[in-house]
Amino acid sequence: MKITGFEAPLWADDVRRAEATAPIGARESCDLLIIGAGFLGLNAARIAARRGLSVRVIDARRLGEGASGLNGGQVIPGLKYDPEKILAHFGEEQGTRLNSFAESTADVLFRTIHEERLDVPHARSGWIQACHTQTALGAATERHRQWAARGADVELLDSVAIGRAIGTSNYLGGFHDRRAGLVQPYAFVMELARIALEAGALISENVRCVRLRKTEGRWRATTDKGAEIDAGKVLLATNAYTDDLIPGLARTLVPLHSFQVATSVMPPELQQSILPGGQAVSDSRRIIIYYRKSPDGRLVLGGRGRMGPPRTAEDWKHLENGLTRIFPALEGLPIEKRWFGRVAVTKDGLPHVHMPEEGLATVVGCQGRGVAMMTAIAEPMVDFLASGDVKRLPFPVTAISPIQFHAFRQVGVAATIAWYRMLDAAER
Ligand SMILES: Cc1cc2nc3c(=O)[nH]c(=O)nc-3n(C[C@H](O)[C@H](O)[C@H](O)COP(=O)(O)OP(=O)(O)OC[C@H]3O[C@@H](n4cnc5c(N)ncnc54)[C@H](O)[C@@H]3O)c2cc1C
Repeated sequence: MKITGFEAPLWADDVRRAEATAPIGARESCDLLIIGAGFLGLNAARIAARRGLSVRVIDARRLGEGASGLNGGQVIPGLKYDPEKILAHFGEEQGTRLNSFAESTADVLFRTIHEERLDVPHARSGWIQACHTQTALGAATERHRQWAARGADVELLDSVAIGRAIGTSNYLGGFHDRRAGLVQPYAFVMELARIALEAGALISENVRCVRLRKTEGRWRATTDKGAEIDAGKVLLATNAYTDDLIPGLARTLVPLHSFQVATSVMPPELQQSILPGGQAVSDSRRIIIYYRKSPDGRLVLGGRGRMGPPRTAEDWKHLENGLTRIFPALEGLPIEKRWFGRVAVTKDGLPHVHMPEEGLATVVGCQGRGVAMMTAIAEPMVDFLASGDVKRLPFPVTAISPIQFHAFRQVGVAATIAWYRMLDAAER
């Protein structure tokens, strides 16, 4: 494959950036301060500003440079765990609330795009979990049984049907979720920012919050530019990019890197034979590979990357090999973009809501599946901050519980990834 090599996500091409440069005076005040301008922060800003609150959003980076602008754009409802496991884990009341929320997340995202008339390429074309072993197919069959019993629009694919849907003979079968689909993630960030601004929220890029403290019942945030922002409530929407603002929070997460590649535009005959229905796909391997077509006909594929930042184009090579293993016809097609971002994994594989102190809330740990979920959880988080009512939340509020030996996470994760890669290769 010809290597060219880029850093910016494919999605940033040709998307108009939102004007998010509100200056911050030495001392400012607002009802709600939101730290982090991804799907969660921006959607919460839109909702809260519409309710008449004065809202300020700050982000340490430029808009679109967090996970929300960098991801694969797969809009997948549900959690990593199936509904019956959620009920068993959380009990009837909380489990039912969480399952109802989890199955609604893709609806919320697509509804937001439609109702707000956002200029965001999207397609409700479904998501396939493609199985490469009998064990994975057994799990997909069980997943299908549980969701079908709840009336979800899902389907179990045999080897012939999945071969036709994806355009490869690599898989034994799979789970097809028609509630899911695709979004252009960077455009979605910019459009959420645009309507949050229109609703009256102030957004400032390249401003890091370096200190948060409570004085006389209000929050005071200090920025790296020396400004101070007083706020009635604070939503920390920093997810995988969480730093040390809240003691111990970053140590509840293992931040991993997800790398992506995009080919050049495929010739028309390959655009027709590969994913003719335009679904998103996740592969069932332990080290997940996920892929989709872009609106302009490229194959975009992602998967786990090295723990540290990439050094050369070689760091994406395992994905390029995966691409041609699944689609041999793509051999020789140039890779035109390579980029990466951070995902946050928790000990129990579930997102966690925390409220370390009254009026300060956060939700972190979307396990690489947060496009639909972080968009949809914005409203419950705004409700919860306003009312303090935990029943507004799909997840319970948990104590911040750092992972033991967190300092050694890189070694542990790198060793586990190497071991899983070996098992995946052996099953090929
Ligand atoms: C490469 C990649 C591919 C992915 N693919 C998919 C997919 O296909 N489908 C899916 O469902 N999920 C996917 N995910 C996960 C998904 O992108 C995330 O779960 C989701 O975007 C998280 O949104 P967020 O708003 O919570 O956080 P983010 O979008 O990450 O925003 C957090 C922001 O907080 C800011 N911040 C951090 N600390 C501070 C501070 N102290 N002061 C100010 N700002 C701060 C950061 O700069 C960042 O912009 C992927 C993630 C990556 C990285």
